[in-house]
Order: sequence, then C-alpha cells, then structure tokens
Amino acid sequence: MTATANGEYRGVWVFIEQVNGEPAPVSWELLGVGRQLADTLEVELAGVLLGQGVAGLAREAWAYGADRVYLVEDAILGPYRTAPYARALVELVKGYKPEILLLGATSLGRDLSGAVATALETGLTADCTGLHIDPETRLLEQTRPAFGGNVMATILCRHHRPQMATVRPRVMPLPRRQEDRQGKLVRVTVPFAGEEAGVQVVEIIAEPGKAVYLDRAEIIVAGGRGLGSRENLHLLEELAGVLGGTLGASRAAVEAGWLPPEYQVGQTGTTVRPKVYFAIGISGAIQHLVGMQTADVIVAINQDPEAPIFKVATYGIIGDFLEVVPALTEEFRRQLAGCPA
Ligand SMILES: Cc1cc2nc3c(=O)[nH]c(=O)nc-3n(C[C@H](O)[C@H](O)[C@H](O)COP(=O)(O)OP(=O)(O)OC[C@H]3O[C@@H](n4cnc5c(N)ncnc54)[C@H](O)[C@@H]3O)c2cc1C
Repeated sequence: MTATANGEYRGVWVFIEQVNGEPAPVSWELLGVGRQLADTLEVELAGVLLGQGVAGLAREAWAYGADRVYLVEDAILGPYRTAPYARALVELVKGYKPEILLLGATSLGRDLSGAVATALETGLTADCTGLHIDPETRLLEQTRPAFGGNVMATILCRHHRPQMATVRPRVMPLPRRQEDRQGKLVRVTVPFAGEEAGVQVVEIIAEPGKAVYLDRAEIIVAGGRGLGSRENLHLLEELAGVLGGTLGASRAAVEAGWLPPEYQVGQTGTTVRPKVYFAIGISGAIQHLVGMQTADVIVAINQDPEAPIFKVATYGIIGDFLEVVPALTEEFRRQLAGCPA
C-alpha cells in the first residue's frame, strides 16, 4: 500500500553516505539544508547510517546538525549493493515514517534513491538545486533545472510520503561543525535473509586519480568560447598559477577541445562552490550558471556588457580578456609578492 500524507509522517531524514567508512561530504551539506527544513517544520532532523563498523560516524552527523541517527549495521551492508541497502532504508521508513528523505546525487545515492522511491511508491526529484518548505501547506518545494536547464521547475509531492529528493555535491553549503553537539543513536536490526544481496562484489578497482577535483577547488579560473583558441589558454594558466587556482571551462570550451571534459563546470559538468570564480569569455548560459553561481565571489571578464554572466557577477570587467587577464595577473603577482603562500 502507498504511504499518504496523513500527518502520520513526521521528520526530516538525510541518508549519510559512506564507502569503507569514509563519509561523502554531501551528507553533511544535506544535514545543513535538512536542519533548516526541520526547523521550519518544527520537527526532528535525523541521519540514516547503513553499513558495518560505521557507528562512529553518528558523532559526525550530530556535529553537523542531526538530532538523531538511525543506524543499521550488518555484514551484508559492508560493500554497497542496491538490494540490501534499499531494503534497510525501506524498512526504516516504514517503521519510523519521515516526511522528507534527502540523499546525495552521487552514483550511490542516485542508484539507491530510485530503488527506494519505487519500493515505497513515492515521489523522487533528482538533482535539486533548491529545497524550501511552503509554510502554508508544509510541502517540500523541490526546485531543479528542467528542459536542458532552460526552465527551473519546482516540483511537489503532495500526497505520498516521504517526499524524496537528491541534491548534487556542493550545491548546498557545508554547515558549521559543532564539536560537542550530541544526539540520539537508534540502532535498528533488519532481518536480512541469507542471499538477499543478489549481487556479489568480486573486486573494487579504484579509479585512477583524476587530473582535477574542481568541486574542491577554492579558486577557479574558467574560460569559455570567448578565449578563441587553445593557445590563449596560457593566459588563464598564468593567472591560475599566481593565485594557486585550478582551471575550469564552459561546455563550449570543452567541445572545442581546449580542455578535457573533467574541467567542465555546469549542469552536465561539475557543480563548484569556490571562494573565487573567474568567468573569462563565458556568456553565462543558465546551464553554466547552475554549476557555479553559489561561488562566494564571481569575477566576470567579458567584452559584451549585455552578457548574462554579469547578472551573477560580484565584480564585472567589460573588456577584451587578452588585455584584462595579463593586467590582472601582473597586479596579483605584485600584490601577492612577499605574502606567505
Ligand atoms: C542539456 C544541456 C546541458 C548543458 N550543460 C552545460 C554545462 O554543464 N556547462 C556549460 O558551460 N554549458 C552547458 N551547456 C551549454 C550552454 O547552453 C552554453 O552553450 C555554453 O555554456 C556556452 O559556453 P560559453 O559561455 O563559453 O560560450 P558563449 O555562449 O559563446 O559565450 C562566449 C562569450 O565570450 C565573450 N567573448 C568573446 N570574445 C571575448 C574576448 N576577447 N574577451 C572577453 N570576452 C569575450 C562573448 O561576449 C560571449 O559572452 C548545456 C546545454 C544544454 C542544452
């Protein structure tokens, strides 16, 4: 039977993702937004921790804002497999009835959320960029780009519970960690049948180190089609070098072959949240903006004063990057000379 919104469902839950005991930072970002949602609804915020030997992470969840942690520990939950993880989460939801369930839009979270939502026969909105409560209806407003990012759609799940959403890493800010914050630990046993996993993990092969971890970069110097050629990239490399930053790119620059795909920022690339983002020769298409507009400071350099990038820029410089970028690099070099690294 389908769970309906009859008031029996209360509380906000965040799935705490871990692999080999290593938590995915998106879990803490979700506790940050989960805290706001729970406070607005005046309900509890809980983390859900599944695995083996992972109880220690409950302390982290409390520090990042959870009031309570539901913990299922079982050997079958050692390496991630869809069936037992989904089973455990579904059992918990059925037992404790949260009204909202959030997961990170990582490959694990995407896989698990779909399996859980279908088993619970409830609604799931993937890749949300905004989550708010409508104070009148208490419904979760789940906003995400749709139609190739040309429309921001706000989606509601009026009648079924829990309201489920995934959010990409770095879309929400990391909340402040409160070292001595304490919460409740609720251990739950799920009776797994022997061969329930369905899948056997034979070997886990680590991905060779990526050239660039844009989502962790504090300063990004990104270039777009306006660069005109691969050769001009060296001007951005010099600026990034002086600032200790990382290069980034619009899709147009990646499609032109100037930078490899892992440098792409945006809806179909990486979502970034650096302290400073330089958008150089980037027009500011919505699909690019959704991946970088939460940067603390955005510096746009573009010769077209009408370019939409200026709408989100903290500082805008209208001009030819061939002149502006070397001048900036030189000035930063001068200013930073003698500063400790
Ligand atoms: C489903 C879908 C997903 C997408 N996903 C992404 C994504 O993840 N990331 C992404 O970036 N795009 C994405 N796009 C593409 C996006 O719509 C834009 O086409 C793209 O972002 C444009 O890149 P750009 O800003 O570099 O190029 P343009 O839009 O061509 O802009 C170039 C800019 O450079 C300026 N310029 C030119 N010469 C100079 C100069 N000498 N000095 C200074 N400025 C100059 C111009 O004024 C212009 O504003 C997606 C599109 C779709 C349909």
